[in-house]
Amino acid sequence: MKLPKLRELKEAVAAVFSPRFTTRFPKEPCKVPERYRGKPEFDPDNCIGCGACVNVCPTEALTMTDYPDAHPPVRVIKQCYDTCIFCGNCQDNCTTEKGIKLSNKWDLATLDRNQTIENHEYELQLCEKCGAIIGTKKHLVWLYERLGPLAYTNPSLLLAKSDSLALAQQSKIPHRDQPGPETADFMRILCPNCKCELNIRL
Ligand code: SF4
Ligand code: SF4
Repeated sequence: MKLPKLRELKEAVAAVFSPRFTTRFPKEPCKVPERYRGKPEFDPDNCIGCGACVNVCPTEALTMTDYPDAHPPVRVIKQCYDTCIFCGNCQDNCTTEKGIKLSNKWDLATLDRNQTIENHEYELQLCEKCGAIIGTKKHLVWLYERLGPLAYTNPSLLLAKSDSLALAQQSKIPHRDQPGPETADFMRILCPNCKCELNIRL
């Protein structure tokens, strides 16, 4: 019976003179490891609003809603990090590989869940013929830049890029209210359906 008591006494004395194992948080900020998976953060310069991250989010911490009737039409990606499980799927499947990154921010507790909501807005590109949603304007420009000279085979991408540089504003082809395709549609930004119809009929 005496031996275990002596061992405990030895452990207690050793503990008094050893360094602390606990942190002094919240008095001092807690440093997390470099590869810690904390709050995912969007990078507005590199996110094109494609929505790929929304599709792979297992908890619906990321959701997406399109507003084609707004002026201008917009896509809103809503991020609710109170339901995020920090799995990293969004980062791993990001189209541009730089649009969203898990930061090392971990002290996210709050008494108001509304504070955990962030909205990210992107202007939508609608089909100039039928009004269907094609994608975000940033996504079309990103595709143009990614394809390089190959983009010259796709007038919609060229026009989207010109639009972004404000080159095409003056030269917009006026719309005629006719249901079928017309030759001028070759120089309009079209959805895949209208483009297909145009290529087959003309
Ligand atoms: S880390 Fe996982 S749960 Fe959190 S937003 Fe990204 S995909 Fe969704
Ligand atoms: S996948 Fe990447 S580029 Fe696309 S919306 Fe998500 S963060 Fe942005």
